[in-house]
Amino acid sequence: MKYVWMNGKILRWKEATVHVSSPVVNSGMGVFEGIRAYWSKERSQLYIFRLKEHVQRLFDSSKVHRMKIKFSKKQVEDAIVKTAARNGFREDLYIRPVVFRGGTWRMPETPIDVVVFVVPTPRSERMKRMKRGVRCCFSSWRRIPDIAMPARVKTCGNYVNSRIASMEAEEAGYDGAIFLTIDGKVSEGSGANLFLVRKGTLITPGVTSDILEGITRETLLSVGAQELGIDVCERDVDRTELYVADEAFLCGTGQEITPIVSVDGIPVGKGSVGSITKKIQKWFFEVVEGKHAK
Ligand code: PMP
Repeated sequence: MKYVWMNGKILRWKEATVHVSSPVVNSGMGVFEGIRAYWSKERSQLYIFRLKEHVQRLFDSSKVHRMKIKFSKKQVEDAIVKTAARNGFREDLYIRPVVFRGGTWRMPETPIDVVVFVVPTPRSERMKRMKRGVRCCFSSWRRIPDIAMPARVKTCGNYVNSRIASMEAEEAGYDGAIFLTIDGKVSEGSGANLFLVRKGTLITPGVTSDILEGITRETLLSVGAQELGIDVCERDVDRTELYVADEAFLCGTGQEITPIVSVDGIPVGKGSVGSITKKIQKWFFEVVEGKHAK
């Protein structure tokens, strides 16, 4: 973590700072992206997963918050590639672009700042969770509804909802939380979308279930399921469907494809990682390492 890209310049990690009185610090007024780059040992190459789609979502998130980014999408894409390369890591990375209202207290016009930083994320640690699966519970908190916060985009402030649910779940001895919508339907995990498998069909809540419109989710719906010959369905999901599902998993940049082995202490299927989930994990890791030409 040597260098940060900030408003068009590469700065040293310590130099990339904001003021304590800025709107982003005081009101969470920012949006961000989470992107992964996968290091291929075979090819000595970093592969950034769906960069264009992530940058598009960053611009969509900014639009919702009336923040005009002073760079083009291409410039932000280039900044991300440059920051990843410049830091010189030869391992998987988590890349975080952030667009926020910076400046200081009550400036007549707050500047819209853009930064990109990267952190290495060793694969071996993540793999343990993905092999073993996670034990989840339904949160006592509800997913922020789109009538209160823009749930479909990555607003910094949205993550207070995620954090409060995951802290509660972890304190109760679970690995993670699952949100219901305020209407009582399944929405998603605290930082990942959710799929279940029933009778061979992959099912996931639709984009009007207050989910973040996840890029990994979309990848599975638009390409993954088709290539693997699995039927998919986007629809409302009830809580008890997870208790009787054959398989379930979380998916997203952070969670990748993480199997859910129990919900509220009830085993999902046999309480181990299901065969369809394993197939999807295998396909996903081939794709992100650039092994599929398509
Ligand atoms: N939901 C939430 C709340 C998230 O933070 C994430 C991670 N960005 C996801 C879903 C998954 O989205 P993606 O596949 O685009 O990472």
